[in-house]
Amino acid sequence: MSESRAFCPRCGDAVPERSASDANDPLRPGAEVELCDSCYFEDFDFVDAPDRIDVRVCSRCGAVYRGNRWVDVGAEDYTDIAIEEVSQALAVHVDVEDVAWQIDPEQVDQNTIRMHCYFTGVVRGTPVDEQVTVPVKIARQTCTRCGRIAGDYYASIVQIRAEDRTPTSDEMDRAKEIANQTVADMEATGDRNAFVTEVGETDDGLNIKVSTNKIGKKISNKMIEEFGGTVNDAETLVTEDEDGNEVYRVTFAVRLPPYTPGDIIDLAEDDGGPVLVRSARGNLKGIRVTTGERYEASYEEGNSPEARKLGELEDATEATVVTVEDDNAVQVLDPETFQAKTVARPDYFDPEAETVPVLKSRAGLHILPDERDD
Ligand SMILES: [Zn+2]
Ligand SMILES: [Zn+2]
Repeated sequence: MSESRAFCPRCGDAVPERSASDANDPLRPGAEVELCDSCYFEDFDFVDAPDRIDVRVCSRCGAVYRGNRWVDVGAEDYTDIAIEEVSQALAVHVDVEDVAWQIDPEQVDQNTIRMHCYFTGVVRGTPVDEQVTVPVKIARQTCTRCGRIAGDYYASIVQIRAEDRTPTSDEMDRAKEIANQTVADMEATGDRNAFVTEVGETDDGLNIKVSTNKIGKKISNKMIEEFGGTVNDAETLVTEDEDGNEVYRVTFAVRLPPYTPGDIIDLAEDDGGPVLVRSARGNLKGIRVTTGERYEASYEEGNSPEARKLGELEDATEATVVTVEDDNAVQVLDPETFQAKTVARPDYFDPEAETVPVLKSRAGLHILPDERDD
């Protein structure tokens, strides 16, 4: 093969022998027979650019319509978007090496940016350059998501409620956090349909309206995973979509357990002494404030054994320790009457302590664990 001469197939001029690697270049399948330089450059087109580019941009969130859907491009302004779209639309001839280019945007009017693009490169050892100007027309629209948000669209409601009480502010704050985090996580995976429509407090809890059933389910499952309790879902037929399919809205009713960690409760038909609740996930668990022993409700009682609430850890007041009587009893000053009183000595009681947190309730005076931050 190295002996053969090559000729330009168009004009018949002799052309230099090509190397084997060039002939096998998969990017140049039509190049088995090579044109001479002058025929080659006659047809050479450095940059392939459209006459103009139309871009649909959401004026609310900056998303750009591409193919058949809205995508977030993370652009700061319309010029950024125009540069991005031009970069996508321009094509450079595959033969050119060392391609460099720059764009000089010229704002023509509010919705038109003229993009002056300068290209340089090297092909067949010859430097080439080209300038193209592409007008980018911006159409300001509202994307599907922003349209839905503006229209208060929602597909699912999560109701945060609690048994025999209203949810605490911690529980409600956490529910809002979980809702926002769930949406943020889904957005991070490119899901544009995830949003919280509305968060509203009611007399008995919190209602969170969200854009999809999946989000509602995630929020409610996370809530009971953290706080215990149950969730029930119910579908309501709201409408039919354009194709005649029935559209359901799902309500997730989260019911948090009646007692929360930190509650001190008095169990019915039980004389082991009040219990400080430690967990309400699964069966209620805690410790006896009389002895410090562990308590766990039976499977049948679950997280709601029959009991009455006496108070919370936060309600504790300081009482002065008068004397340690024995392994089971301590004398402290009643914080209200300042009279010495003998109370049960739980195993968490520190015999060195001068004062201890106590709860005075209908069930009497009890020493609580000292859990204050120093
Ligand atoms: Zn030729
Ligand atoms: Zn939008």
